[in-house]
Amino acid sequence: MLKGPWMDWKANSEFFLTDTHAHLASTRFSGELEDLLDRAREAGVRRIVTISCDAEDALANLEIAADHGGVAASVGIHPSYVHETGDGDWAGRIADLAQRPGVVAIGEIGLDFFHPPGDGGSVASWRTRQRKVFEAMLQVALDLALPVIVHQRESGPEVLDVLSGFPGVSAVLHCFTGGPTEAERALEMGHFLSFTGVLTYPKSEEVRAAAAMAPLDRIMLETDSPYLAPVPCRGKRCEPALLVHTARTLAEIQGLEFEEIASATSETAERFFALGPGTI
Ligand SMILES: [Zn+2]
Repeated sequence: MLKGPWMDWKANSEFFLTDTHAHLASTRFSGELEDLLDRAREAGVRRIVTISCDAEDALANLEIAADHGGVAASVGIHPSYVHETGDGDWAGRIADLAQRPGVVAIGEIGLDFFHPPGDGGSVASWRTRQRKVFEAMLQVALDLALPVIVHQRESGPEVLDVLSGFPGVSAVLHCFTGGPTEAERALEMGHFLSFTGVLTYPKSEEVRAAAAMAPLDRIMLETDSPYLAPVPCRGKRCEPALLVHTARTLAEIQGLEFEEIASATSETAERFFALGPGTI
């Protein structure tokens, strides 16, 4: 499956790619994690941040990170999972998990106005609940001095409004799908942008325009595996090895060599997440 010019480069090179957003604990990868990491390594993807959507997911991701050099984890409550927060100390549970070894960020957290309310209630109360959880997660990040990974869907301005209330928090807008104006506002606030396979889709002209104007020390690459496979694998299950396609597209957009893109976006990720020296 992975054949092409990028195979000349990869594993022995001092340059490598960092997949800053993959859901390695996804059931869609059950039983094949080692093979998936082998394929990533073969493709030159040598560091991965595995992302959690709730506390249970976090436990699975922490285990994966503990067992694999080069894999770090995030912990947080995704906006589509906020109905799992009951009366207990859910924020405290995330804060506890966030202090375990291998955790580099709080995420993914944010606002999702696309999907219908997960609790069967009104849209207004669902959005209020999302905002409450988002703010609580940002407070945890602030307390623990961790960066955050932000999920936004049809909620771009609202997400930036909430973030503006936490000026001490450094955020990456994961799967950035906005245009140059939105990108500029986020960058002006000091935040980072991360691009998925969406960058390779024919209709993503606005996203490519945003990627063209963004400085390399503020952008990162990700797969969002198992979702959002880039062209030419669009529609299939995504995995970290496929990051090469998105990286090549970014290289074309920025008019740079593939190696420069790999090294610059990996350096940005290393700095943003304070990643250790380990590789997969
Ligand atoms: Zn995700």
